[in-house]
Amino acid sequence: MPAYPSVIKSKLPKTGTTIFTIMSALAQEHGAINLSQGFPDFLCDDKLIGLVEQYMRKGMNQYAPMPGILPLREAIAEKAMRLYAAAYNPDTEITVTAGGTEAIYAAITAVVDEGDEVIIFEPAYDCYAPSVTLNGGIPIYVELEPPGYSIDWNDVKKLINQRTRMIIINTPHNPSGMVMTAQDMKQLQKITQNTDIIILSDEVYEHIIFDGAEHQSVMRYPKLAERSFVVFSFGKTYHNTGWKMGYCLAPVELMREFRKAHQFIVFSANTPMQHAYADIMKDPSHYLRLSEFYQEKRDYFLKLISGSRFKATPASGSYFQMLDYKNISKEKDTDFAVKLTKEIGVASIPTSVFYHHGMDHQMLRFCFAKGKETLEQAAEKLLKV
Ligand code: GLN
Repeated sequence: MPAYPSVIKSKLPKTGTTIFTIMSALAQEHGAINLSQGFPDFLCDDKLIGLVEQYMRKGMNQYAPMPGILPLREAIAEKAMRLYAAAYNPDTEITVTAGGTEAIYAAITAVVDEGDEVIIFEPAYDCYAPSVTLNGGIPIYVELEPPGYSIDWNDVKKLINQRTRMIIINTPHNPSGMVMTAQDMKQLQKITQNTDIIILSDEVYEHIIFDGAEHQSVMRYPKLAERSFVVFSFGKTYHNTGWKMGYCLAPVELMREFRKAHQFIVFSANTPMQHAYADIMKDPSHYLRLSEFYQEKRDYFLKLISGSRFKATPASGSYFQMLDYKNISKEKDTDFAVKLTKEIGVASIPTSVFYHHGMDHQMLRFCFAKGKETLEQAAEKLLKV
């Protein structure tokens, strides 16, 4: 194809293809065990697959209503009430989305305007800042330090001004595995009171939280919930990230604006999956057992690599484990991750890509949402490094 005339001006000049795509492709190319992009390598519940098939055969193959089918929105409202004592109206305050990423983009697009500032904690999941930039907003970064990645709320407070439109939080946190505490939520409440700041709370790993900790959803805090978009993912909870299904809850005024964006991004999310999730959500045991399920995996992975030269602080949540390789190499994490993939046969994510200035703490992120055998094979290789 001839090159497009040079009048095209990139809206995201510094953004390339996501690291998840790059590392998964590299893993495939070199036949490496892929612990990079976060997704389970085991099957989702057969019952769920059966339900999708059943609904497809019943003819549920046309557009769902723009905000999602009502039974699913009702199931989500019940869950929010049961787990977090939060009342959301399924008609006006809940929308089913094409995954967490779409929900995040729709929320940002709904409220962030030219010149608005959005506070983002780094390391940050890679879709936040570009979504802000595409809407003319300005990302304002707060850097979190390993190994704890805890938030200094005084630093955050100093950044707040008239232009601060939004604060994006993510708990359990990707990539660090940090989880926010009740104290964090109270601090967030304190610094946002008497402001117009909107919170975008990415809680897609809500059910993957370890060592007895309780997920601190913004929904538990009415003063936070009243200014928040809260984003969730079915894929993380039901082991089917490729179905690209998620949802967002927000007070009616925020949700009204959210839907204006959502309807022109995807219009509506996949119909048969919505019916299947509405049914499966009647049984909460799926998600109530998830922390235990993944804690076992975290502990197993850490035990397997305990004799290696990698250093770990156990993740508090999410299905990611950060490993420090300072004892092994002085190389840049991007180079080391490539080398580990090509020469050792294990793919991971270099975490400097989650900092806008590429801050390199020489940490790699490994996804342990894998079967025992995969973890064993990966560990065997990592022990040789
Ligand atoms: N959330 C996944 C991760 O952090 C990646 C999803 C994606 O590739 N967009 O690995």
